[in-house]
Amino acid sequence: MTAHTCYIGLGSNLSQPAEQLHQAVNSMAQIELTTVRKCSSLYSSKPMGPQDQPDYVNAVVEIETNLTPHALLAAMQKIELDQGRVRKGQRWGPRTLDLDILLFGNQVIESQDLTIPHVGMKSREFVLFPLHEIAPDLVLPCGNSLIFVLNSVSRNGLVKFEQDVKSEC
Ligand code: ATP
Ligand code: MG
Ligand code: MG
Repeated sequence: MTAHTCYIGLGSNLSQPAEQLHQAVNSMAQIELTTVRKCSSLYSSKPMGPQDQPDYVNAVVEIETNLTPHALLAAMQKIELDQGRVRKGQRWGPRTLDLDILLFGNQVIESQDLTIPHVGMKSREFVLFPLHEIAPDLVLPCGNSLIFVLNSVSRNGLVKFEQDVKSEC
């Protein structure tokens, strides 16, 4: 089996968001065949889409896994559900926890329920800045460096907290 380095984008804006992210990192560490390697700081970001919802807390985590991409997606969705994620049909509505697979090694995947690299990652400041914090030299599967992509987005009110996403785990 091959181990893959993967990046997960975490987000929450309900029910003590920072705690939700800490709990999610704890749960990721329990996934079979998977190790949590690096955790970014916590960041505060403005909501995408509907603006009548609280600001988000975001972070990015690097893991190493021997799971398949779809098995990893299932594991992430289980953690979302365990932490009370309810899908109400409103796109980008408020949620206790969102776990998006940003990158799975250098793989490009386009299946019905899984797109990797994550479809929004190149334009989202709340993904690119925390990702850069833990993987400054990353090159994306498209061949562009992360720093090149990062330089094309504005911070859009993104604020970094001193606290690390795993500091209270
Ligand atoms: P966005 O994907 O724009 O960030 P979202 O995270 O709010 O929006 P979700 O409701 O969490 O969207 O997920 C919708 C569907 O996206 C999931 O059912 C899942 O099958 C699919 N999906 C596709 N690619 C990915 C990925 N890389 N990581 C997580 N989910 C993905
Ligand atoms: Mg998302
Ligand atoms: Mg999601």
